[in-house]
Amino acid sequence: MILPYMRVLQGIAASSGIGIGRAFLYVHEKFVVPHTLIGDMKIESEKVRFQVALSAVAKDLLAMVEDAAKDDHRKILETHLLMLEDPDFFQSVETLITDENLCAEWAVEQVLHGLIERLETAGDPVLRERSADLYDIGWRVIRQMMGKQQVDLSAIHGDAVLIADTLLPSEALMLNPNHIKAIALNGGGRTSHVAILARALQIPTVVGLGKVTEKVHQGDEVIVDGNLGEVAIRPSVASAAKMRDRYDRWIEHERKLHEIVALEAVTKDGHKISLKANIETVEEIDSVLDNGADGIGLFRSEFLFLKPGGATEEEQFVAYKEVLEKLSNIGPVTIRTIDVGGDKVIPGMEGLGEENPILGWRAVRFCLSRKDIFRVQLRALLRASVYGKLKIMFPMISGPEELENVHMVLEQVKEEFRSSNQPFDEEIEVGIMVEVPSAALCADILAPKTDFFSIGTNDLIQYTIAVDRGNEKIAYLYQPFHPGVLRLINMIVKKGHHAGIPVAMCGEMAGDPLSTVLLLGMGIDEFSMSPQSLLEVKHIIRSVSLAEARELVEKVMAMDSCVNINTYVREWMYARFGDFVTA
Ligand code: PEP
Ligand code: MG
Repeated sequence: MILPYMRVLQGIAASSGIGIGRAFLYVHEKFVVPHTLIGDMKIESEKVRFQVALSAVAKDLLAMVEDAAKDDHRKILETHLLMLEDPDFFQSVETLITDENLCAEWAVEQVLHGLIERLETAGDPVLRERSADLYDIGWRVIRQMMGKQQVDLSAIHGDAVLIADTLLPSEALMLNPNHIKAIALNGGGRTSHVAILARALQIPTVVGLGKVTEKVHQGDEVIVDGNLGEVAIRPSVASAAKMRDRYDRWIEHERKLHEIVALEAVTKDGHKISLKANIETVEEIDSVLDNGADGIGLFRSEFLFLKPGGATEEEQFVAYKEVLEKLSNIGPVTIRTIDVGGDKVIPGMEGLGEENPILGWRAVRFCLSRKDIFRVQLRALLRASVYGKLKIMFPMISGPEELENVHMVLEQVKEEFRSSNQPFDEEIEVGIMVEVPSAALCADILAPKTDFFSIGTNDLIQYTIAVDRGNEKIAYLYQPFHPGVLRLINMIVKKGHHAGIPVAMCGEMAGDPLSTVLLLGMGIDEFSMSPQSLLEVKHIIRSVSLAEARELVEKVMAMDSCVNINTYVREWMYARFGDFVTA
């Protein structure tokens, strides 16, 4: 038989490493949900059928929680259980059965679509991808009612590369990393739960490949490069040899990186940098600790609000306390107050259907007009503050009045604590994200009024270049090395230092090894990033001197285009650190 030629597909690198094996092809069976209108006589029995299915799925999930070997696996299953037990979900389905006479499967599908649509129209990719969890749990219930079994992925053995259209979180939990050498998916993004789990399991993964399932045959040899985001199908002998060589070098590179896990991020001329982690969920703490972070530089607290109805004070308190306690011997934890509203729609907290949500009602703007929600969060934070070293950070501050207003609310909540003798840390540092150009431009005014700055490059680049960070059509304009962006960052650092406050960075740029030396030279004091990037960035910091980093900045700041800056920095970094850094 003549096999089709080798193909190399480019996707999104979701979990680093290189995996080689034989394809195990898994495409989800498409089944049609019955859309039957039931008679009034059947309403009660249909509700019972729904309740029985819910109980059966809950029982399965509970058994899986008990068997879960890893903390983060258990937490995801528990999240699913919570979604399943959500009274709003239950009520909405029963209402559709009773009022609209929909059969139970159809009612669940309808409710699910509504919830998923809201999450998927969210501008925040992280929230958008949480719809996979809802989809997962909803379809479990529908499958249960239709008597369809879930495929047992835990039975895959040999050195396999899992090629799938998509992978639900509950399916990812079944994977055995001893047998699954890599994963390649048609859909998904870097921040999906599947990607988080793949990173926790250390399975090299590439997502967002389009139609990889149509290009691979069962049993084909496949090489997945989770660093470059490349998937080679039926590689030629020469390509396979090249990729295997890269694989060997990668393993060696990783081994060396792990040797520095306990060492400080200090330059050759003795300048110390703080390296912290960004997390979205409590379950990521293990990987924060495994990668030697000095603390948490950004906890995106809006994640706790994913379920309908948001998060109660108690639920938030428990989550904040857990993170603070786990980090208490390591370093501070910076928790950002919720960055929702506008396009970041969270079930039960819908906006006003704004025409321009990116410039609309979000983050502190939302919090200042929904003080009920804001004060609950501040209370939970203050209560948790006695369990570790908490720092509070406000997102999307655009100017001094807004800063004054959020401080005022915080002060009122503190006063309530004082008058009722409730303990909290009086020394909590309170800082702001600098991610709106107006805040950057008046950094000199804001700096004396705050304890620290943390530059949010994801939004700062979006607003400075006027380029929607989620729009693929104009993604070419989204340039961290735009001279305008670099000038702003440089200015924020200078103004912050002039006022004597530390300047951190927690946008994606802080974890991009290509930017490390440049940011170091500009004077960033703290880099906060996804835990997986920490060791690479630390290695770079330990390999250069602050003096040469400053020279690089001087050179780059005199350049007149993104292309020139990109080329120059890439060549500089390649000469020093090779292809794993400049990929
Ligand atoms: C940023 O804007 O850089 C940032 C860290 O916040 P988010 O990505 O959550 O908007
Ligand atoms: Mg932001």
